[in-house]
Amino acid sequence: MKSEEVTRILENAIRIGKGVIRYGSVASYIPELAKADKNKLGICLYTIDGNQFETGNTEDRFTIQSISKVMALCLALETFGAEFVFDHVGVEPSGEAFNSLVELDNRSNRPFNPMINSGAIAVASFIEPKVSFEEMLKLARCFCQDDGIVLDEKVYHSEMSNVARNRAIAYLLESKGVIGGNVEEALDFYVKMCSLSVTAESLASLGLLLANDGVDPSGKRLLDSDTVRVVKTIMLTCGMYDGSGEFAVRVGIPSKSGVGGGLLSVVDGKMGIGIYGPALDEKGNSIAGRKILQFLSSQMKLHIFAKKD
Ligand code: GLU
Repeated sequence: MKSEEVTRILENAIRIGKGVIRYGSVASYIPELAKADKNKLGICLYTIDGNQFETGNTEDRFTIQSISKVMALCLALETFGAEFVFDHVGVEPSGEAFNSLVELDNRSNRPFNPMINSGAIAVASFIEPKVSFEEMLKLARCFCQDDGIVLDEKVYHSEMSNVARNRAIAYLLESKGVIGGNVEEALDFYVKMCSLSVTAESLASLGLLLANDGVDPSGKRLLDSDTVRVVKTIMLTCGMYDGSGEFAVRVGIPSKSGVGGGLLSVVDGKMGIGIYGPALDEKGNSIAGRKILQFLSSQMKLHIFAKKD
């Protein structure tokens, strides 16, 4: 596809995205997130052959929130191996909200998957005794090719002051023997990793790394191929909260959203896409981001099962 054509598609995409922002609202259960400007919107698309396309608010910083679950899972798989991780956390969609504890209490003794809070808090509890938060921060900067990533202290403290639900999940995990170490330390690590400040550009770089099998643009392998395959598969089946099935059918691009308004998408073997749009739909996904990805998928034939010409 020619560059001018991609630029035109992105311009249309942002127009379509802007058209639905009014139907969404910013997250408010973490008070600091409620301060975001819901009209912000940026798309960033980095291709494996080195092209970069950007439009809108692609340099605005916001907190990564649930998208950090992708990096934490990569780290856990590389540190402890898939067998250990999936002995403790499943790989099935839960069909429940990201912060639900009903299915964990009633239907299973381990979290359904690592993309919901229970699974990610469990993953954080494995990582935390071995990897300091500073090391996690360094890793995030490296995966996202972004030295500007820092801990957003305001969002971190805002979430820590409103953490009762995640604390309940963490202690439920302890009661089921999934968390063996210090529950408060695991919870703190989890909230810190959610409070990393990124941009749509950082997310596009992370997407590109995963699209390119774990190899960064300089040709250095940062992640094992098996890790990347597993993570992309879980993003496809579980990455968009309890809207993951519909998103897989309509868009078909492994993605992960966060309540800060970020969206990370991986078009395998082709490109990474990063979006920032803090107005969320009722499931917690960026409302404009979802619409934009659907448009890009159809215009650029990016669906994982798109008919090859
Ligand atoms: N830190 C947020 C929480 O645990 C992340 C939620 C999200 O982005 O889905 O509630």
